[in-house]
Amino acid sequence: MSVAKNNTAIATTDTASNIPRSYVGRFAPSPTGLLHLGSLYTAVASYLDARAVQGRWIVRIEDLDRPREVDGAAQKILRVLEDFGFEWDAEVVRQSTRSHLYLEALRSLRDRHLSFDCSCTREDLGKHSRYPGTCRDRPHLVPTGVRLIVVPHTIHFLDRIQGSIYQDVAATSGDLLIRRRDQLISYLLAVVVDDADQGVTHVVRGADLIDETPRQIYLQQQLQLATPEYAHVPTLVEEGGLKLAKSRRSLSLCSSDIGMQLIEVFQMLGLKPPQSLHLGTIPEIWGWAVEHWQVALVPKRPTMRLLNPKINKYL
Ligand code: GLU
Repeated sequence: MSVAKNNTAIATTDTASNIPRSYVGRFAPSPTGLLHLGSLYTAVASYLDARAVQGRWIVRIEDLDRPREVDGAAQKILRVLEDFGFEWDAEVVRQSTRSHLYLEALRSLRDRHLSFDCSCTREDLGKHSRYPGTCRDRPHLVPTGVRLIVVPHTIHFLDRIQGSIYQDVAATSGDLLIRRRDQLISYLLAVVVDDADQGVTHVVRGADLIDETPRQIYLQQQLQLATPEYAHVPTLVEEGGLKLAKSRRSLSLCSSDIGMQLIEVFQMLGLKPPQSLHLGTIPEIWGWAVEHWQVALVPKRPTMRLLNPKINKYL
């Protein structure tokens, strides 16, 4: 694989190394715990999808939710990615250093009267499944949250794995929170601004985020930003149907048997690695998968239960 060394910013060597500029993929973990098999599954899918077309692949640490952050998790996530042989093409970006971009987007929406201050608490909204518009015309004197005005309009996108998705964001969510009452920037705003700023063309991530996508597309449209292609891989769930979660420390990865864990993940992505691949080195294992990757092979399901006993042993 002709990729840059980890943690080094790429200058203008793309043409020389023949990496087309057209594909930029990303992996964007939140440092709320260690990587687990579910996050590895997503990272592998996004990495293979990029490398199969000699695209670029970047890592972004989504560390805006400081109260939920686990000390040292970001460093550990990067170390695990390195141990598993991932190589990224630009310096790792942390959302906590990019407030100026998010504030600029907030300002742009405010200047165009596309957002409003909102002081509603969770308790205020408790019984509503969508935001009922309470603060749309209410003046506020103290710092509050900020919501994006959402008007009825069906968003449609063609997910590369899950197919056509339609959502009328006004009907399902109502006005969207883009800055929280505690002044933290919402995930929605940060992810949209960052994907655009980093030139991300292809998002490959877990299907647990598929309902977020129409909201992100709605916001992209309001900010006049390009919409990437989306592919949502099944979310891995435990025996009882619970999503694997970093914050529950439900499953962590072993630092030994890396090749075997990768091969198992490839199988869950629909690839059919030959037995002999178990004897390969990590670069050989990746090389085989890059060559054989096809997004069409990924199971077209929102969730996938872990049944493989070898994998369950990491639980
Ligand atoms: N930071 C999110 C997570 O760790 C992923 C966001 C995304 O891929 O858009 O679940």
